[in-house]
Amino acid sequence: MSDLAHIRLVVPEIDEDELREVQAVLASGYLTQGPKVAEFERLVAERVGTRYAFATTSATTALHLALVAMGISAGDEVLVADFTFPATANVVVQQGATPVLVDVDSSTFTMDPKDLEGKITTRSRVLIPVHAFGLSADMDPILEIARAHGLRVLEDAACAIAATYYDRPVGSLGTAGCFSFHPRKAITTGEGGMITTDDDALAERIALLRSHGGVRTGNRFRFEAAGFNYRLSDILAAVGVAQLRKLDRILERKRELAAEYTRRLHGLEGVATPVDPAWHGHVYQSYVLMIDEAINRDRLIGAMRERGIETTLGTYALHAEPFFTRTYGYRPGDLPGSYASYRRSLTLPLYPSMTDADIDRIVDSLSCALASSPGTTR
Ligand SMILES: *Cc1c(COP(=O)(O)O)cnc(C)c1O
Repeated sequence: MSDLAHIRLVVPEIDEDELREVQAVLASGYLTQGPKVAEFERLVAERVGTRYAFATTSATTALHLALVAMGISAGDEVLVADFTFPATANVVVQQGATPVLVDVDSSTFTMDPKDLEGKITTRSRVLIPVHAFGLSADMDPILEIARAHGLRVLEDAACAIAATYYDRPVGSLGTAGCFSFHPRKAITTGEGGMITTDDDALAERIALLRSHGGVRTGNRFRFEAAGFNYRLSDILAAVGVAQLRKLDRILERKRELAAEYTRRLHGLEGVATPVDPAWHGHVYQSYVLMIDEAINRDRLIGAMRERGIETTLGTYALHAEPFFTRTYGYRPGDLPGSYASYRRSLTLPLYPSMTDADIDRIVDSLSCALASSPGTTR
């Protein structure tokens, strides 16, 4: 095993293209938000199909900025899909509002509309569904519930650029969508994010709050709001512009590799492969399996590590994390779909430069690890 190269979870696709773009920006001397950010935003808006796109320093600041621009504050409730990276709910807490956690369907890992309706109160303002691992949430029932109750929908599309819901791009379905360009995502700027929207008033508010709340009038600013500095640098936008040129090739290769995984793993006892729901459009930011209840997933991760292969859990069930149990009184397991997903999901390596031989090795290692049951079962 030690003579084989270590297989990492994700390896970004960076080459001379990104270097050339960055070099040009450095040579221009314009280093903060400028023409490259504008170009990056125009390209993302085109891709997502929205009138506006605003680059930010991360998806976390994108989500925060969108919520502030929507006027979310103390006393408000925001309904958040429970199975997600904590940033999705932390930004709600930071506004003094209450995150109301909504269960997910453990087959798609996305917000369960059946659990949503009963959690809406007179204080509810915004719904945040998460497009988990590159698969869109089931948006039609979610949007219908939002319409019926006069709520806004903020899509956490952090890991789902170019994913679609019945052929419509995510980030264009709700009031606004937020994307991430962290290195774990399909394309990266190191750190970076984007808000997409078609809402004119929201767009104006986002533009104001992203940069200190200042409006330029003549030779000075007038500060109309207590804003942030969530601007992306042109240096990083240059990386993003180069990455976007690779996006389709990256997604195509990842889809191929995911299909190969599914073909090879289908029927293997103890694992369930990702589902392809009626709305399709999965872009496989991550390839995530569900492991049988009887198998110790964490030991499986250890056994794969011993074979030189990096794997990890899917993501977190927020209601079971200490901050949320302590602050809001949830008990682990209160949201059963999310809790099962947290305990039983397993992310396999997936990135475009992986070879078919890598897939062979990962599938063989997983089969061996599952078969050597004393090492993996409880
Ligand atoms: C990655 C991710 C985030 C955070 O993105 P950053 O750009 O790292 O802030 C938020 N939500 C989800 C669902 C994510 O996958």
